[in-house]
Amino acid sequence: MRLVFLGSPGSGKSTQAGLVSEKIKIPRIATGDLLRDAMARDTDIGRKADVYMKRGELVPDDVMLPLVEQRMGEPDCADGYVLDGFPRTLAQAIGLEEILARREEALDGAILMDVDTEHILKRLSRRRVCTECNTLYNLDAEPPRDSERCNKCGCELVLRDDDAEDTVRRRLRVYRSGTFPLVEYYEAEGLLRKIDGVGDTKAVFDLIFDEISELRRS
Ligand code: AMP
Repeated sequence: MRLVFLGSPGSGKSTQAGLVSEKIKIPRIATGDLLRDAMARDTDIGRKADVYMKRGELVPDDVMLPLVEQRMGEPDCADGYVLDGFPRTLAQAIGLEEILARREEALDGAILMDVDTEHILKRLSRRRVCTECNTLYNLDAEPPRDSERCNKCGCELVLRDDDAEDTVRRRLRVYRSGTFPLVEYYEAEGLLRKIDGVGDTKAVFDLIFDEISELRRS
């Protein structure tokens, strides 16, 4: 199963992509995590991405496309993957088609998480991320046992730099202008599945899983 998850920052897309990845045992490829990891390791890619990410802007495609293609080439991706945070622009969607063609693969579906701006701003201000393993929490909806420590590895939880309100507003603008055209693109391809992303994590996951089960049957 090869899936793309679409949705604005704070739409719950990473949480749900993670749950889908666990349930059907295929890796989640989260480009934001790949970039943060490259930054933490101070690689060439990390240094290139740093300035864009801090500003809440998109990292250029000549960095993103090879990064994704390389990750998709790893052995754990042989039976599929959940792409989370990629593609984010039409140019990236076309770049993805080219990567898929080289790999003789095709997407099975594009899941769109639909959540309004008011919910997004509230969710992101309450979001915390583990500095070590990148696990996400929400202090209201999915609180960690200790508000400052990760349940999984015990490391420190922080508000991400780019979850500050000004940066979030910029990321939402970037999403509307850059990513929204993808919705039409995947709709035209017959791949789009729109999910109401307001609701508790389990209820939203059930909606997504129904769609995925239908995609698997078709
Ligand atoms: P995320 O963790 O998906 O919210 O991504 C955090 C940041 O990483 C974004 O605001 C961008 O700066 C960068 N980023 C992640 N994925 C992409 C992508 N597909 N294209 C360009 N930049 C990206």
